[in-house]
Amino acid sequence: MAEIEPRVALVTGGSRGIGRATVLRLARDGFDVSFCYQSNETAALELEKEVAETGVRVMHRKVDVRDIDLVRGLVAETESTLGPIDAVVTAAGITRDNPLLLMQDDDWHQVLDVNLDGVYNVCRSVVFTMMKRKRGVLVNLSSVAGVYGNATQSNYSASKAGIIGFSRALAKEVGPYGIRANVVAPGFIDTDMTSVLTSQVKEKALESVPLGRLGRADEVADLVSYLVSDRAAYVTGAVLQIDGGISL
Ligand code: NAD
Repeated sequence: MAEIEPRVALVTGGSRGIGRATVLRLARDGFDVSFCYQSNETAALELEKEVAETGVRVMHRKVDVRDIDLVRGLVAETESTLGPIDAVVTAAGITRDNPLLLMQDDDWHQVLDVNLDGVYNVCRSVVFTMMKRKRGVLVNLSSVAGVYGNATQSNYSASKAGIIGFSRALAKEVGPYGIRANVVAPGFIDTDMTSVLTSQVKEKALESVPLGRLGRADEVADLVSYLVSDRAAYVTGAVLQIDGGISL
């Protein structure tokens, strides 16, 4: 039987929510996985154990995606431990909601720093090796807020719209090297990020979802799994919404 080449994935924001579901899904797909997170070491260790049980190699590091030196270190350590990175999924993200009139300068900058600069830092750190190898796939997590805008989320919407422009530009730059860059734009997904919303806000949002429920992190991970696979070999520069129809 032909040997299956090991593939390596790097996932940011892997300790919980969509990132965590993606780590598990890619491990099931046979990827060796490196993931980073911001604060919850216990959750990261538990995930690492769960992933290791699937038989693939796994590592995690506490790395703030705002710090490009730390991100470069993560990429270098991942490549020396697991091998060259084939797939990158940037799921690290935060919200700091407020109407613009009440927006604190710091909340504006924090959201742009994590959500947009973080994506730049990661993609910038992996792209050279991918181009040299003429191989690689990038999946950046945006949001329907980045496509349509969302009231009280001018900072978040701007960061997520930025990810779309960034990824499309990148798709054009690196396509000739055989590298694909795509965006996943989820709607309302049931994770810690949305658990902080009041039940009133959730009910109101659900009124706009034709499928009548929140999405699940594993459903988003399934889409990521498709995008990083060869089944999506001709898909690049795409913004794939997974939103239960909220944007209709
Ligand atoms: P979450 O809050 O459950 O998890 C976010 C993850 O990002 C955590 O692992 C956290 O440790 C990590 N993180 C945050 N700041 C970081 C930093 N500075 N450095 C490194 N890691 C950091 O969020 P989620 O719901 O799983 O969302 C994942 C991605 O999907 C985010 O980019 C989010 O904007 C996007 N998204 C989520 C929804 C939703 O409804 N949940 C909708 C659209 C888009």
